[in-house]
Amino acid sequence: MTDITLVHGDITEQEVDAIVNAANSSLMGGGGVDGAVHRRGGPAILDECRRLRASRFGGGLPTGYAVATTAGELPADWVIHTVGPVYSESEDRSALLASCYRESLRVADELGARTVAFPAVSAGIYGWPIRDAARIAVGTVLNTPSQVVEARFVLFNEDAYAAFEQAL
Ligand code: ADP
Repeated sequence: MTDITLVHGDITEQEVDAIVNAANSSLMGGGGVDGAVHRRGGPAILDECRRLRASRFGGGLPTGYAVATTAGELPADWVIHTVGPVYSESEDRSALLASCYRESLRVADELGARTVAFPAVSAGIYGWPIRDAARIAVGTVLNTPSQVVEARFVLFNEDAYAAFEQAL
């Protein structure tokens, strides 16, 4: 059974087997978590992302999918890139957000990662209301069987931490 823990902080500093990146489909970097991961992890991550684009994901990584690369200079061993859905008021995209967590755990199992740090996927630039994002994140991790012993949600600000605490 996976233990869920919550911490305040920066996901790039976590000493875990794998950290999850809130990537965009291009895998070529961006803002928020993605920017921090590439900035602190160095060029090895982008090199591997380029190779993924040239091989398995020519059209980009689809929303709700996850794929692993090296973590470069980060303390973690791997980065699991997942693409969250952009929030929409007119369409319910929660199944895609749940898929990000489920697929990330599946990739973690393939890697043999036992401790995994997650950000609040889609709750930044992609505009997802934090309470709803937290409910989907916690609910999906609790309901997804995996070999991961610790799923650590790393929350960047007070509001996000409070939302995850409440969801838990
Ligand atoms: P998305 O594009 O999926 O919305 P973002 O990276 O913009 O992803 O934001 C996702 C969440 O991660 C937001 O709650 C944001 O405040 C938070 N965040 C941004 N940078 C970091 C970081 N270095 N560590 C942990 N969380 C972060």
